[in-house]
Amino acid sequence: MDCAHGELANRFASIMKHRRNRMLRFFAALICICLIAAPLFSSAFILTHSRHAHDHLGPSGGCATCVSVKIAENLLKALGSMLIICALFLGGRNSFLGILNFDSSNLSLLSPVALKVRLNN
Ligand SMILES: [Zn+2]
Repeated sequence: MDCAHGELANRFASIMKHRRNRMLRFFAALICICLIAAPLFSSAFILTHSRHAHDHLGPSGGCATCVSVKIAENLLKALGSMLIICALFLGGRNSFLGILNFDSSNLSLLSPVALKVRLNN
């Protein structure tokens, strides 16, 4: 009875891990698409509207297209800075863990079910 319960618990933990991995992959892909699409469309907007006809407010008076171009430029600067910081952080983290020879995939296996810890005493 205990053995069957343990197998069932292990099977449930395996299914939950598989689902969690699928969700993580989906959100990672979504973030990647956003990180590719935002600079792409911002650059395209800046390129297509760099020589536009200003509206009646003029370039220094708050022309709507000039304001949008400025926002797109700021977005590109922010994304560029963020990507550089993320690349440095992940590169540093991976090299640090590589020096320690640490396998982070083992962390997800550490659960009371996987370790077969009895919590009823
Ligand atoms: Zn303008």
